[in-house]
Amino acid sequence: MQVKLATDRGFCFGVEDAIEIAEDAVNRHGAGEVVAFGPVIHNKQVVQRLEEAGLDQSGDLETVDPSKAVLIRSHGAGPETFEQAEKRGLNIVDATCVLVKRAQNVVKQLHEGGYHVVMIGDPNHPEVRGVIGYAPKVTVIDRGTDLATALPYRERLGIVAQTTHSPEHVANMIAEILKRPYREVKIVNTLCLEVTRRQEAAIALAKEVDVMFVLGGLHSANTKEVARLCIEAGGDTYHLETWDQFDPSMVEGKKIAGVTAGASTPEWVITEFTEKLEAM
Ligand code: SF4
Repeated sequence: MQVKLATDRGFCFGVEDAIEIAEDAVNRHGAGEVVAFGPVIHNKQVVQRLEEAGLDQSGDLETVDPSKAVLIRSHGAGPETFEQAEKRGLNIVDATCVLVKRAQNVVKQLHEGGYHVVMIGDPNHPEVRGVIGYAPKVTVIDRGTDLATALPYRERLGIVAQTTHSPEHVANMIAEILKRPYREVKIVNTLCLEVTRRQEAAIALAKEVDVMFVLGGLHSANTKEVARLCIEAGGDTYHLETWDQFDPSMVEGKKIAGVTAGASTPEWVITEFTEKLEAM
């Protein structure tokens, strides 16, 4: 089987940093002494490796032992998490990606500047849940949101987006907002270029090949978005976590396969998949 790899794929700098910070914290504090409030990133294989190295990723802020260090994940957290952790005297290790930190600051500044903040994103995603904590009232709008009922009328709107959304989706949502009678709409671009580059490379490759494989956590927002864009680009697309989920019927009658991966997928998963696919 001929296999082509997307030019931009796999780990972004934010995920690499978060893993390094987590490993370093475990080395300094000891195995079992660092607690995260959920998986550090949305990738089962990496989460398992960190677990084996001694990172507890099932912690709870209310009940965590105060002698332990707490790790804030790359998705960040709302200010109330930091306040509560400080109140409990916990040692905080902050692995929030710098681009998520920036989005948090933008939300704070927009609110302080008198804008009603609107975030285009998935209300259940940890990044969004954290970012909206930086202003007292943020309206979150998602793909299926009925804008007519969701958006309150305020003279001045300040818009940000979840870092992993596609520019095309955000632009469509903004176009809908602009059809409504807001006096002032300020848009701050909080999209992550690492993600945008991976999306563009995936779309280009999907148009060239007979079948696309998008590797990454099934709960990873950026991987799901890459898979959605590949489907939209017209190719047969499979979103898999690893080679274990591959089935030969997926490439039946196909000559060229494309492989890409989300920003939280390690290179070894991509290499293993590509080598096995090439060997078919
Ligand atoms: S995808 Fe972008 S925003 Fe998210 S962790 Fe990576 S660099 Fe940061």
